[in-house]
Amino acid sequence: MESKITTSAFEGWNLDTQRPLIIAGPCSAETEEQVLETARRLKATRTQIFRAGIWKPRTRPNSFEGVGVKGLKWLKMVKEETGLLTTTEVANAQHVYEALKYGIDMLWIGARTTVNPFTIQEIANALSGVDIPIFIKNPVNPDVDLWIGSIERLQKVGITRIAGVHRGFSSFSESRYRNAPNWQIPIELKRIRPDLPLICDPSHISGKRNLLLEVSQKAMDLNFDGLMIETHPDPDNAWSDARQQITPEQLAELLDHLILRKTDPGSNGFMSKLEELRSEIDRLDQELLMILEDRMKVAASIGQCKKENGVTILQSARWDQIISKYLEVGQSKGFSEEFIRKLFMAIHQESINTQTRIMNE
Ligand code: PEP
Ligand code: MN
Repeated sequence: MESKITTSAFEGWNLDTQRPLIIAGPCSAETEEQVLETARRLKATRTQIFRAGIWKPRTRPNSFEGVGVKGLKWLKMVKEETGLLTTTEVANAQHVYEALKYGIDMLWIGARTTVNPFTIQEIANALSGVDIPIFIKNPVNPDVDLWIGSIERLQKVGITRIAGVHRGFSSFSESRYRNAPNWQIPIELKRIRPDLPLICDPSHISGKRNLLLEVSQKAMDLNFDGLMIETHPDPDNAWSDARQQITPEQLAELLDHLILRKTDPGSNGFMSKLEELRSEIDRLDQELLMILEDRMKVAASIGQCKKENGVTILQSARWDQIISKYLEVGQSKGFSEEFIRKLFMAIHQESINTQTRIMNE
């Protein structure tokens, strides 16, 4: 990994500006020895912030739910011995008070908490008047507004340093990921809130070690500002999330393999070429919309026709015909089946909406 790529994303955070910012440490603090050993070994890597869960939100009862307050003492020891900054997850007001009491440098809010405005408000109230940096994980469901809402609740009580953490989204369907990345959601957050640093947590997206590099690289290519990666001295025997944790040495190796591309294209003619291609894209997008407008006018006329003749809007046979024809055409043009399906389903749905309006006029 090139080490000279810097970022201004963390202005005012008192952090080294090398990109990516690295937050690492175990999923859970288990014992004093495990915490300190992880921290000592991480000290030899590019890690700046040490993470460890003290209170663990577990899906099912009767699993290890964290060591509680005594783990905060271990985090304090990490800071004193290694100088690493420390962070832990808070999920209610009591957690906030305890973490502040032990001088934890930064707090993170977990995915299961971001979904709940009542809890976020409770945490925000507990933090009122304490301007500590906060990392907010995305909610478990793919809802960018809910994520932004949590950010706003914290800003309203005076928190000035907030970063988003993308950790993927729960889904029912089988997938190679533990939590589907749905990259368009963090991209949307970045579009709406370009002022906030954005960090990727490839550990909870991947759910297993062998995907960590691929997901981390993707985050770097999308210009994320940092990575939060779970590390453990003996990953296979971790008390939580064993399959996705790596050793501090494996973390160092992963970081070495990351390719960091420049975000500033420089002045070698690349920029003007890029501008030219972008304006071509803009022109084509405009044209696409004009074609869709024409198509919708035709759909409206069909709606009128159906109304006059008393036939239903949805003619399944016709829809089947359209979709199978375009799947074939799309394939010959190199488009994925998923893309063609989504595209035509969206267009078709909009036509149905237009026709429904006409029928009910
Ligand atoms: C964690 O970071 O260990 C954790 C519980 O994360 P999340 O809230 O993303 O599930
Ligand atoms: Mn975890």
